[in-house]
Amino acid sequence: ANIDRAEDAARATEYGSEGIGLFRSEYLYLGRTSAPSEEEQFAEYRKAAEAVAPKELVIRTADLGADKLPEHMEDTGLRGLAFSLKEEQLFKTQLRALYRAAEYGNIKLMFPMVNTVTELSKAVKLCEEVRLELGCRAAVPVGVMIETLEAVENCAELAKAADFFSIGTNDLYHELTGAGGRDKEIVEDQSVRETVADMIEKTVKTAHEKGREVTVCGRMAENARMAERFAGIGVDAVSLPLALIKEKA
Ligand code: PEP
Ligand code: MG
Repeated sequence: ANIDRAEDAARATEYGSEGIGLFRSEYLYLGRTSAPSEEEQFAEYRKAAEAVAPKELVIRTADLGADKLPEHMEDTGLRGLAFSLKEEQLFKTQLRALYRAAEYGNIKLMFPMVNTVTELSKAVKLCEEVRLELGCRAAVPVGVMIETLEAVENCAELAKAADFFSIGTNDLYHELTGAGGRDKEIVEDQSVRETVADMIEKTVKTAHEKGREVTVCGRMAENARMAERFAGIGVDAVSLPLALIKEKA
């Protein structure tokens, strides 16, 4: 399941989800006047991890910037991982909370809107710093969202440096069509669907050659025919909105 809040983790388990493929952690930062503290974040991630354990909880580091900018923060024109790398203290606070919570469940981390292996390497280095500072011994796989055309382009290099991939069809669709609001995320255009499916196929092939698993967590997987096709292409799992899982429960 895809969730936006820790309390939905227990609900997802109740509806029969096999884990959380995407926890959009940026919602912890939005609609408030200051950033969430390490303690607050730790409590949220721990709550979610415990509700899902022993199944996996994939927490995406904050996908802030652009349309998801906290009121108290300056618009740097950056988004996702690039935004976090610019706001290093904010990012390290989140990483500390994540690594502390990892002792309480089966947490995996992933980064949003990654473009290059240079960015990824900087982020992985920060993760290692934090992990050493904390003396954290939990194994925490680090993944990359493939949701920009540049990431698709760089997927071979990224697969070497990451433990897994999660494909964000919503942003891919956006970039391909230049579509307006992010609420129009369901891919309706058949030719764009084909383009995205080809990109997914290429990404899966490259990732599997390096022994990395690939999930699709964008809304394209909501379409049953597309989900079947993804399975045929070799996608290892899909992650869907909680509301949809509830409907099918
Ligand atoms: C995506 O882009 O497909 C995705 C899952 O991320 P978000 O919808 O949060 O941008
Ligand atoms: Mg996205």
